[in-house]
Amino acid sequence: MQDFKIDTNCVQAGYKPENGEPRVLPIIQSTTYKYDSSVEMGRLFDLEKEGYFYTRLQNPTNDAVAAKIAALEGGVGAVLTSSGQAASFFSVFNIAGAGDHVVSSAAIYGGTFNLFSVTMKKMGIDFTFVSPHASEEELDKAFKPNTKAVFAETLSNPSLQVLDIEKFAAAAHAHGVPLIVDNTFPTPINCRPFEFGADIVTHSTTKYMDGHATSVGGVIVDSGNFDFMAHKDKFPGLTTPDDSYHGIVYAERFGKAAYITKCVAQLMRDLGAIPSAFNSFLLNVGLESLAVRIPKHCSNALKVAEYLKNNEKITWVNYPGLEGDEQYELAKKYMPHGTSGVISFGVKGGREAATKFMDSLKLAAIVTHVADSRTCCLHPASTTHRQLTDEQLAECGVSPDLIRFSVGIENSNDIIADIEQALNML
Ligand SMILES: *Cc1c(COP(=O)(O)O)cnc(C)c1O
Repeated sequence: MQDFKIDTNCVQAGYKPENGEPRVLPIIQSTTYKYDSSVEMGRLFDLEKEGYFYTRLQNPTNDAVAAKIAALEGGVGAVLTSSGQAASFFSVFNIAGAGDHVVSSAAIYGGTFNLFSVTMKKMGIDFTFVSPHASEEELDKAFKPNTKAVFAETLSNPSLQVLDIEKFAAAAHAHGVPLIVDNTFPTPINCRPFEFGADIVTHSTTKYMDGHATSVGGVIVDSGNFDFMAHKDKFPGLTTPDDSYHGIVYAERFGKAAYITKCVAQLMRDLGAIPSAFNSFLLNVGLESLAVRIPKHCSNALKVAEYLKNNEKITWVNYPGLEGDEQYELAKKYMPHGTSGVISFGVKGGREAATKFMDSLKLAAIVTHVADSRTCCLHPASTTHRQLTDEQLAECGVSPDLIRFSVGIENSNDIIADIEQALNML
């Protein structure tokens, strides 16, 4: 399906029914698969033959959706996970273990920051956090001899920082490690990080990919471009025999698909963070309209951002797609068709005015979610970050008046009218 345009792949990639088979991707709601002989099944266990034997490792519905996302990102393979958190964890843990070190952008999702700085730290993996706008020298200084990967978000949640992917990829490659990027907010419709040198892409499919707020999920996509064998000593998990599979060397046996095969064969086998086939089915339905929904999210968000920018009750607006925004040029380079539907802004009157404004909204709902078809908003200072003082908030780049506004695909005039009536209550 590689030759088709991305909007065709959104609809058709990953599943190709044979004569007389269901036109729509079936939900294979089965834990197991039947074989005629033990010998045949044994070959599957040894990774000598491809095939299904237990859904914790592979399921046809999940695999079809993963293949679709691999096609959208231009990768050689992908694996779905039960959540975006599992995707972030596996993407790093697949190549870093106790005693290793990872360089990460500081502008990442709060859940990922916790995963790295608390939970994975307990597992013995050390992280150095750098600004997404770090200079080449600053980036260079963050590396250590035991660094195994660089991690960043292409468009960060919630701070909306645009990553200079080429700069981060160059730094990672100069130190012989892959660049892993979380591409949740732009989606492959607005940015395909492999084209700029990223090696691994992750997503929380919970957001725009599902698009309707029905299923939590994640995905890891492998570009196949990183040459682990060229850095043999750094990545023994890929370049030396795996005793749990009779001595297979992933980088030798699976070539470009070594990283993603190891991820399934070891991490899914042992940690089991798989999505249900039903959730993958819903994700697939969402993906079919991704190329139609994303431009609408972006054009609506641009209209809302322009409205807010010209409103005297608004103190500041952060939307990288807005002309005059300090990240506008960077956004144009990496996301020329738009960034995402998410905007952040401040209202005059700080924390109190922000909550009053939000409570007055009628169409937009207050929810702990972003990036689905319904317009929604969140006030981090009184919800997700409520335990922090104003000084601590400033350190995280969250001001007390910050409202994260996720623009949906309703009519933009209705969304703006709702904002206007709520601002009039102030
Ligand atoms: C939501 C989110 C995650 C975590 O995903 P879940 O599906 O909620 O586990 C990771 N990264 C980004 C950028 C997110 O927005």
